Amino acid sequence: MNSPKILDGKSVAAAVLDECRAETAELLAKGIQPGLAVVLVGADPASQVYVGSKARTCAELGFHSVKIELSAETTQDELLQVVRDLNADPKVHGILVQFPLPKHINEEAIIRGLDSRKDVDGFHPENVAKLVLEDPTGFVPCTPAGCMKLLEISGIETSGAEAVVLGRSMLVGKSVASLLVSKNSNATVTIAHSRSKDLPAICRRADILIAAVGRPEMVKADWVKPGAVVIDVGINRVEDSTKKSGFRLTGDVAYAEVAPLCSAITPVPGGVGPMTIAMLMKNTLQAARQIGA
Ligand code: NAP
Repeated sequence: MNSPKILDGKSVAAAVLDECRAETAELLAKGIQPGLAVVLVGADPASQVYVGSKARTCAELGFHSVKIELSAETTQDELLQVVRDLNADPKVHGILVQFPLPKHINEEAIIRGLDSRKDVDGFHPENVAKLVLEDPTGFVPCTPAGCMKLLEISGIETSGAEAVVLGRSMLVGKSVASLLVSKNSNATVTIAHSRSKDLPAICRRADILIAAVGRPEMVKADWVKPGAVVIDVGINRVEDSTKKSGFRLTGDVAYAEVAPLCSAITPVPGGVGPMTIAMLMKNTLQAARQIGA
């Protein structure tokens, strides 16, 4: 039985936030207070938790923090006006509109309404282009950036590695694949999805396997090459009557059977999850540096 290295997202995120604290102090000394606005439409409980912890982390770092909570009946035009006002607000360097939005609002229209220089989620087409072009002035989506930071800080070599990314969303799969194949990381990358044939065989090729499918414990032991590094992005709620809440969180990887095979693996929770907010703070600092006072 192998003992894998557990990639502890909480402690790596804490180290990233320490870096952010130092960078904030440098900007404050130049008269620039980094500012992040988070916008929540409706009262989705999970989104409320995410928005709350983003605003709290901003406050802890000494950012200017704006939290805008709008009713679920807000129209697309009203939300676009809020975005335009934030685009024009010199105290706000980063804008995050929490998704998902109510069904009557077109998320793409909201993304395109953002000033790309303040799009710290990295969803605007200009930032997507910059990601592919490897232009460092763009914003990398926070979860993929968090995966890469975990690999980097944990000393995992990506250059020449065979990487398989399960999932092709812009939010995670395609973006993390772009980062892995970039000239910074130099991995050889395969992206797999719901139409891929023989997923276990594709995944067994991976030195680095990134699972981002949203299917609880889909990746089994016979999908993983012994010695592989496994990054589990999935956050899935599964019923569990032994828990007070009635559910537990699980990843896309069957951790108990996969972990003994790996050289390193992220737990869920406590792996990629904590990295996302830390990278959002990094992106906001980048926006503040690029836009200035
Ligand atoms: P998504 O938009 O639903 O995309 C899922 C991807 O997985 C799609 O490309 C889909 O393929 C593929 N897929 C679904 N079922 C599959 C199957 N049975 N076999 C092969 N491929 C399959 O999800 P997402 O936004 O990328 O998120 C993925 C997971 O990461 C979710 O659990 C989400 O909660 C989690 N997540 C975590 C964080 C974090 O902070 N840790 C942040 C974002 C997301 P098709 O394209 O062919 O449909």
